[in-house]
Amino acid sequence: MPHDAYQGLYIHLPFCASKCHYCDFDSLPYMPDDPYITEYVEGLIGDIRRLSKEGKLTDIRTIYVGGGTPTHVGTKHLGSLMYALSLFVDLSQVEEYTVEANPESLTGPLVKDMWALGANRLSLGVQSFDDGLLKAIGRIHSASDALRALEAAQTRFENVSLDLMCGLPGQTVEGSAADVSQAVSLGVPHVSLYPLSLEKGTKLYRRRRKLDLPTEDDQADMMEEAHRLLEGAGLLRYEVASHARPGFQSKHNQSYWMGVPYLGLGRSAVTMTQNDERRMRVRNGAVEDDLDAAQMAAEDAMLAMRMAAGLSRERARQMTELLPELPERLRSLEQVGLLRQDEAGWHPTERGWLLGNELFGELLSLAP
Ligand code: SF4
Repeated sequence: MPHDAYQGLYIHLPFCASKCHYCDFDSLPYMPDDPYITEYVEGLIGDIRRLSKEGKLTDIRTIYVGGGTPTHVGTKHLGSLMYALSLFVDLSQVEEYTVEANPESLTGPLVKDMWALGANRLSLGVQSFDDGLLKAIGRIHSASDALRALEAAQTRFENVSLDLMCGLPGQTVEGSAADVSQAVSLGVPHVSLYPLSLEKGTKLYRRRRKLDLPTEDDQADMMEEAHRLLEGAGLLRYEVASHARPGFQSKHNQSYWMGVPYLGLGRSAVTMTQNDERRMRVRNGAVEDDLDAAQMAAEDAMLAMRMAAGLSRERARQMTELLPELPERLRSLEQVGLLRQDEAGWHPTERGWLLGNELFGELLSLAP
């Protein structure tokens, strides 16, 4: 179908040093010198070259190299992939270029190479600074590895994001707050905080009855305390799981929540294609979503509530043409405390984010 230009590019490297006990992402343990990694990266380079020649990378404004653990594949593979990107995407037009990294494989020389090849943001998977908790969830790095990796990252990158988790087995509210305080003290401008989710098929899920998991109330307290500490340090919450200093919000991640079309390359990466009447998401050649204009509007209203900025009055008014029940639904969500409104528009409340499934489900169901 004729479609709007892709503005985001996501590249998936599904390789890790080992499998974390909570992970259900498409990622498997491989040695960095495994021939499959060479073949996979060469395939990606071929795709990038072809797509560039077809003119599909002309409007790319954000790049995100994720995984898996991109830094696990090492300088040789990551360097050749990033070199191809520098040749076939006009990096002078790219506003944000993120590479995900894990502490055990982020080295000083790799940081320098990534910087030289055009990346301007690193996202470091720290999860916790408590070695006991890291071990319990199957992370192979230690707190000191994370500190060393961050120090290396900060030799080149100002824009470093730390990923933390809360609600880990055996974690206390105080322990979670200590992790957040440590992240703040390290001076990073962006922190993402994800509650542990027990996904079927993972080691932690299988052991779930034996785990000493924090209660839902404790988990809510952890999020609330994290929010307080981060906001107090000037990292404002701009999305349900993300805090940033002004100017450091992730443009790539925001594009997922703002209906910006993106291309996904690599195994299990999703491509979102759209025009005014239709939005499709395709993964591994299979269509996962095929939305008409009303369903797109309902999805956009739902995605807007992931962000603190919420839904503007103007956008809500436009959506009402396709979703006549929207104004009433927004008011009823306000009455139950999941939304609030001001002059700019509608915004999620803290309670709305805590009860995200309810809030998001109510908006999505406006266009079945
Ligand atoms: S490092 Fe990330 S992608 Fe790899 S196994 Fe752990 S959680 Fe999954």
